[in-house]
Amino acid sequence: MKIERIEAIPYAIPYTHPLRFASGEVHTASHVLIRVHTDDGLVGTADTPPRPYTYGETQKSIITVVDEIFAPQLAGLDPFDREKAQRVMARTVHNDTAKGAVDIALWDLIGQAVGTPVHKLLGGYTDSMRVSHMLGFRPAAELLEEAQRFREQYGVTTFKLKTGRRPLDLDVEAVRVLREGLGDDVEIYLDANRGWTANEAMEVLRRTDGLGLTALEEPCDASEAMSRRRLVEHSSIPIVGDESVPTPGDVSRELLSGGCNAVCIKTARSGFTQATEILGLCTGLGVDVTMGNQIDTQIGSLATVTFGAAHEASQRRAGELSNFLDMSDDLLAEPLEIISGRIHVRDVPGVGIAIDEEKLARYRQD
Ligand SMILES: [Mg+2]
Repeated sequence: MKIERIEAIPYAIPYTHPLRFASGEVHTASHVLIRVHTDDGLVGTADTPPRPYTYGETQKSIITVVDEIFAPQLAGLDPFDREKAQRVMARTVHNDTAKGAVDIALWDLIGQAVGTPVHKLLGGYTDSMRVSHMLGFRPAAELLEEAQRFREQYGVTTFKLKTGRRPLDLDVEAVRVLREGLGDDVEIYLDANRGWTANEAMEVLRRTDGLGLTALEEPCDASEAMSRRRLVEHSSIPIVGDESVPTPGDVSRELLSGGCNAVCIKTARSGFTQATEILGLCTGLGVDVTMGNQIDTQIGSLATVTFGAAHEASQRRAGELSNFLDMSDDLLAEPLEIISGRIHVRDVPGVGIAIDEEKLARYRQD
């Protein structure tokens, strides 16, 4: 089996409402669908969510790097030779979601070729993940209403609150309202998307002490090295690296230098191959991981649950898998469902990403 060609298809699907957080705001999912075609007619599929304000990738840059750099070098390669593909793509720095999607599409091909679900190939630990729901910037009363609705409608009991606002009272108040309204049997953790300084984050932790928070993600820019290290040393809850740790090298640098002591893994930017390396670093060093969301579609969320459910360590914490509910539509032919707070992997060969071709024709922009 040989890679014949790679398609990078731009498409746009509006969100039902704008999503706001400290690093940006999105109104439309302007993504790129990656399709790797082989000479024996198999098609491996993955989704790329560009996040320009965080990683510098855009829809156009992803298409260009795939069309002009990766595709010509990967053509003719056996999809099973993932390590060769990794080395080809590693020559180009950054462009992590473009690389991640190509890697996931290769795994999808491998699963199809051997007639095995990819979650089994990756580890086969379990068949589902608990879902954590992300709460964006909204007045505290609306956040509580949203969380209550998710608990009732979907059985979700873990919530990530987007923070990083100034004045700090806005976020401290939101935590208090959520804890009082939801009770003690709900997990709440924070993600500041670098919105604060390390010292502001210290103040927020002090003011929310006793409210049962379980983690604080990306409190400040990781380059604020000394203050951030002090924060990590003094915090009673894990400080999670996310956008500061997109690659295995970044993960080792931040963990070993004390810039974080937990890691968010996103298959959108790591693919399955690098996500496996990151997970190995984290389990080896004994730190928690969370399966994160790059505002993924159903295709991206299915990839996340495929990886997350495959390993014991990545399924321990609830995975951030519900962002697709904010989209007005999706390309996945058979919709993902959250049932009793969980999303299941698909027991079909590959990742199980069947595309609704009519919808792709409607939303594609090329
Ligand atoms: Mg994050």
